[in-house]
Amino acid sequence: MAKVNEHYRKLSAGYLFPEIGRRTRLFQESHPEAEILRLGIGNTTEPLTPAIIEGLHDGVERLASVETYSGYGDEQGSADLRKALQAFYASRGVELETDELFISDGAKPDSANIQSIFSQTSIVAFQDPAYPVYVDTNVIAGRSGEFNQESGTYDNLVYLPCAKENNFFPDLPDERVDLLYLCSPNNPTGAVATKQQLQKYVDYARKHRAVIIFDASYSEYISDDTLPRSIYEIDGAKECAIEINSFSKFAGFTGVRLGWSIVPKELVVEDSEPGEVNRLWFRRQTTFFNGASNVVQRGGLAVLSKEGLSECRQLISYYMENARIIREGLVSLGLSVFGGDNAPYLWLKTPGNMTSWEFFDKLLEETWVIGTPGSGFGPAGEGYFRLSAFGHREDIEEAVERITSRLKL
Ligand SMILES: *Cc1c(COP(=O)(O)O)cnc(C)c1O
Repeated sequence: MAKVNEHYRKLSAGYLFPEIGRRTRLFQESHPEAEILRLGIGNTTEPLTPAIIEGLHDGVERLASVETYSGYGDEQGSADLRKALQAFYASRGVELETDELFISDGAKPDSANIQSIFSQTSIVAFQDPAYPVYVDTNVIAGRSGEFNQESGTYDNLVYLPCAKENNFFPDLPDERVDLLYLCSPNNPTGAVATKQQLQKYVDYARKHRAVIIFDASYSEYISDDTLPRSIYEIDGAKECAIEINSFSKFAGFTGVRLGWSIVPKELVVEDSEPGEVNRLWFRRQTTFFNGASNVVQRGGLAVLSKEGLSECRQLISYYMENARIIREGLVSLGLSVFGGDNAPYLWLKTPGNMTSWEFFDKLLEETWVIGTPGSGFGPAGEGYFRLSAFGHREDIEEAVERITSRLKL
């Protein structure tokens, strides 16, 4: 008799976004006149830039002739694209070998799959609040106990709270952990770790032979050059850190799908030689994945070209100007706002100690604007609220105008 993977049953449900959808639908039904604006989701809205469209067209054209046609490529990605990424990192002072780079169909799948190369018995730590994929995939893999309604946490997982007091970057765990997920710039808080903060984690990881899984999906939103865009800017990180990144937020590839991971050969864990973890990820990818689309990889190459990079910088400035507009509006109301300087998310302390969901309802009812309750990203997100800077300028301006004129504080 077949049985299901019972760990799926532990998942506290895909509660957040379906619940936002449910409340939004109910509100729309009772207020058919309301034009709802969404500042809730982390999805890009502006079109791909000309150089990238050209790269994608080139990818399609190549499939049209027998001289340039290609079928399956290397599972770890085309040599061209890995070389271009190598050069991209080198321009920032990070030296990588091309076989330390693995192209994928996105940072979500990589951040979900990477845990599978580590021991079942690993003790896993997460920033709280965090992108839900890290916790959920470790639950599915059986590394957690049951979900605890009262605390909003899973037993046997280690939560590292991020709050105003620690500038939304967690203190080191006080117990020994094996895998550590860090995301900087952070979704949802918009906080960016400094070099000193990451150095502490790298030192901890080297001392305990732990592995840091560093999600840098928003690295291109960093404008402050003193802040690290890659964990490999930190001394010793190649011994203990895997970096995951994506073209999604960088170049608007959310629907196109392309990402990459870096597993340095120097990386070692308690029972491995240098190189083994890199080979395991290669094995995992070649077994479970058949490579990113060849058309899309031509698009990725175009992103990394001189024109592509400059166009993407403009695209990012557009979203960051949205972030500035949102921030200014919220601050003018006297609200406490974090993030939004080097990340496309604003993290707002709910006024009057409202819960995240209470504020969701209030914002929707009074301004017809949708945001994301902070508590959906982990218990430390309670009392906070995320607004996203991804949107068309006129919608952002309209939302901010409504918030500043209609929100009753
Ligand atoms: C959007 C996002 C990703 C992107 O994933 P893709 O699969 O590359 O689109 C990864 N990590 C975080 C934290 C994100 O917010």
